[in-house]
Amino acid sequence: NVEHPQKDPLELRDVFIAVKTTKKYHRSRLELLFQTWISQVKEQTFIFTDGEDRELRGKAGPNVINTNCSAAHTRQALCCKMSVEYDKFIESQKKWFCHVDDDNYVILPSLLRLLSSYSHTQDVYLGRPSLDHPVEAAERVKGDGSVSVKFWFATGGAGFCISRGLALKMSPWASLGNFITTAEKIRLPDDCTVGYIIEALLEVSLIHTYLFHSHLENLQRLPSNTVLEQVTLSYGGFENRRNVVSVGGAFSLAQDPSRFKTVHCLLYPETDWCPKTNHH
Ligand code: UDP
Ligand code: MN
Repeated sequence: NVEHPQKDPLELRDVFIAVKTTKKYHRSRLELLFQTWISQVKEQTFIFTDGEDRELRGKAGPNVINTNCSAAHTRQALCCKMSVEYDKFIESQKKWFCHVDDDNYVILPSLLRLLSSYSHTQDVYLGRPSLDHPVEAAERVKGDGSVSVKFWFATGGAGFCISRGLALKMSPWASLGNFITTAEKIRLPDDCTVGYIIEALLEVSLIHTYLFHSHLENLQRLPSNTVLEQVTLSYGGFENRRNVVSVGGAFSLAQDPSRFKTVHCLLYPETDWCPKTNHH
């Protein structure tokens, strides 16, 4: 602030944002993200997918990473993508690694505010715990036995962030394909494996934050007047029971079923496709 200016305030260009997607969602999910929040952070947002797409390449160029991972929704395929995300982040030299899914909206001012309250040189792992208790996994050990380990992990579908300081320490278990070997030791999904490396192996605790949201929770219950303060949003289940945040504004549910366009216009009313606000 004005009284205590920070020497080196964090900027959005210091944040590496990884979006996990798959070829079949390029049109149905990614397009909406490019239209909305990604338009504000094109340089530092990277799309991790599994199939070449000329249209997407035209839109995002070198920021599209074809991981060559399988397009199956298996543990191996998802861990393969996470391992490429990790390697690209390390290469990028940016201060923060944030991972989101292709059904997340990132509220950039809130993300910047949250990360600004921590130091990227310290060990920081921020996200929403998936469960209300730590997960218990059987860790395969040398020989043929296994031991039980308990740890918290941030749910991948709500997004999570890791400081560079901590990410560098994860290297023996996460870099250059080691992530896949680590995941096989506990036979759990990619987001659990991140938690395992950080909490169980490095003994750094997840900072529990409820500003990240996945469609596993009831999104309607989020108070409307707090929506813009959240860090991530999501949507789910248009088919039967709609699970979206309740915000009113420019677009009807039919015009904007995910509510992402409505949120975007509240944050960036000057956007050309947002309805003009009345000035008196
Ligand atoms: N995904 C993927 N490969 C697949 C299916 C899904 O990489 O074969 C990605 C998808 O693009 C999204 C994330 O995994 O970023 C979660 O997928 P989804 O939202 O469909 O499932 P959820 O686990 O949230 O119910
Ligand atoms: Mn999802």
